[in-house]
Amino acid sequence: MTEFGFIDSIRRLFAELPDNGFEGIGDDCAVLPLGDGTSLLFTADLLTEGIHFLRNTTPPYELGRKALAVNLSDVAAMGGRSVATLLSVALPPDVSDEWTEAFLRGYRDLSAEEGVMLAGGDTTSSRHDITVNVTVVGRTADHCIKRRSDARAGDAIVVAGVLGASGAGLRDLLAGNLDTPNARIHNAPVAQTAEGLWLGERTEVHAMTDLSDGLASDLRHIAEQSHVGATVDLERIPIAPGSDLVTALTGGEDYKLLFTAAPEALPALCRAFESRFGRPLYPIGTVTEAEDDTIVWLDCGRRVETDWRGYEHNA
Ligand code: ADP
Ligand code: MG
Repeated sequence: MTEFGFIDSIRRLFAELPDNGFEGIGDDCAVLPLGDGTSLLFTADLLTEGIHFLRNTTPPYELGRKALAVNLSDVAAMGGRSVATLLSVALPPDVSDEWTEAFLRGYRDLSAEEGVMLAGGDTTSSRHDITVNVTVVGRTADHCIKRRSDARAGDAIVVAGVLGASGAGLRDLLAGNLDTPNARIHNAPVAQTAEGLWLGERTEVHAMTDLSDGLASDLRHIAEQSHVGATVDLERIPIAPGSDLVTALTGGEDYKLLFTAAPEALPALCRAFESRFGRPLYPIGTVTEAEDDTIVWLDCGRRVETDWRGYEHNA
């Protein structure tokens, strides 16, 4: 069964259960409105040795940072601020004390930089592989929440950074080049936490998600959940140095924010973002009225037929 098939089964089997005030699954975080104009956000991500990382290519300090960063990215994608985390690890007997210490230092350093506290977790042994699961709790004002389901026909589609560095870095790592700039980005991605908060406060920003599986897959989530289509101009995709277009679209793990925004507000939004963060936003396309989540890829105006999908782990 694929990852998405598993999630579909969850939707089917759990549909009748009480929601206890939560919004259902499907977005970057689960949302619990507290009734005072604020909501709590919850997200979890699991990293498994051999699937998400290799022990000999991802140093423990970087892995500690990455395990947290990928969750901070999901809270940022909702327009929220991360406040606390739960860290659960399964460690096999051949993991050294030095490895564990370095892993925790990486997790601790990023926690300090982001102002989040470690509230709990679980520690257990495993037979062979390392597994790390992080849960992050975030907070936000209700009016700042950005959902995948709020894209509107006519919106501009925007990415908040260059794409493809992580995928190119994975290629470097697998080829034995452990110290390239892209390999470092793959091992220790940076979540756009300040950018997510800033975008969350802007009413002209409608739908938002983070790019964990790749644009081809994550844009489809916005289209499906907003019941819209999309047109993307391939020549406007910002490609990271040392990467390429297909990697930028399908490589995954870039953790840049992807959002849609009212077209009339776009020029001012781009100017304000650049003066705040010193980096540009990249408008790459338009939300369309197609109800069947069709994504049309245009290369200088010419339609490109493709079966691009994001990276999909098998469940
Ligand atoms: P993301 O890439 O933002 O982490 P995913 O694509 O992994 O999101 O997950 C899509 C949605 O399915 C999310 O809302 C997530 O919480 C939910 N989900 C994924 N796996 C499970 C699971 N095992 N149990 C319950 N919900 C899940
Ligand atoms: Mg996400």
